[in-house]
Amino acid sequence: MPRRPETSPAPAGRFAPSPSGDLHLGNLRTALAAWGFARATGRRFLLRVEDLDRVKQGAAERNVADLRSLGLDWDGPVDRQSTRIPLFLERVRTLTDAGLTYECFCTRREIHAAASAPHGIPGAYPGTCRNLSEAQRARRRTQRPPAIRLRADTPEFTVHDVFAGEYTGAVDDMVLVRTDGTPAYNLAVVVDDAEQGVDQVVRGDDLLPSAPRQAYLAGLLGHAVPEYAHVPLVLGPSGARLAKRDGAVTLRELQELGHTPGDVLGWLAASLGITHPVHTAADVLEHWDPSAWSREPAVFEPWGTAQG
Ligand code: GLU
Repeated sequence: MPRRPETSPAPAGRFAPSPSGDLHLGNLRTALAAWGFARATGRRFLLRVEDLDRVKQGAAERNVADLRSLGLDWDGPVDRQSTRIPLFLERVRTLTDAGLTYECFCTRREIHAAASAPHGIPGAYPGTCRNLSEAQRARRRTQRPPAIRLRADTPEFTVHDVFAGEYTGAVDDMVLVRTDGTPAYNLAVVVDDAEQGVDQVVRGDDLLPSAPRQAYLAGLLGHAVPEYAHVPLVLGPSGARLAKRDGAVTLRELQELGHTPGDVLGWLAASLGITHPVHTAADVLEHWDPSAWSREPAVFEPWGTAQG
């Protein structure tokens, strides 16, 4: 297993957007929560753009500008995950050397069919390529490039979450490197958090089911498991996860209607359960008490044009 850094970086929290478009109120709310958790506990706060895939031209710059408009700050330059591809692949080699990976030749369709068979765990990889012989692998390699999967030796793992408490979720043979050679999200997020001293992971609760497999992978790589706080999502008026169809949902769209970043910050804070009026990021810290926050998703009702 890799050596642990001799001097660990100071503890940190982070916000790690995928630059696939402008941040909507749900993403901004998660960013505010992550920033507040880090600052309220004396941690560094890092901004890491997760640009290994789903990148939309210009989105990262716009995301950064929006976070600044809300008054959030971070330590060090904005980080880009794509600068560390060799590091991620090196970690996979370490796992491979320990016999903890295998090549997978399954197509998406094959995985879907196998995972929806009776007794299949929904969405979990059923292990089809786990025990291929060397000859079988050599033949399959001539047909399509393999993905690299983890050879997990547990079906589940338990993490502790500030809001959800003890949470047990599935660990499967997750993809570490995709067929196109790109490191997969679950690998990159674990390696980056560990290397960057992130010991507090605050993000949307759609990622809670991924926390057990990430924590398990962190352990295999010799890293400590971070503290997790998965915050409820923001829903649109239909009850589905907030999306473009819900109208003006990004900072820029709301500004076009005449609302200020302070108005947006006030809504974000109120939606988390901060009952004091909030106009600046400093106000959020002044009234910081996540134990009083709502555990329910916030519902966004469309805003009209600002008055006055
Ligand atoms: N980049 C991921 C996303 O935007 C978040 C990763 C994380 O916070 O762990 O969905």
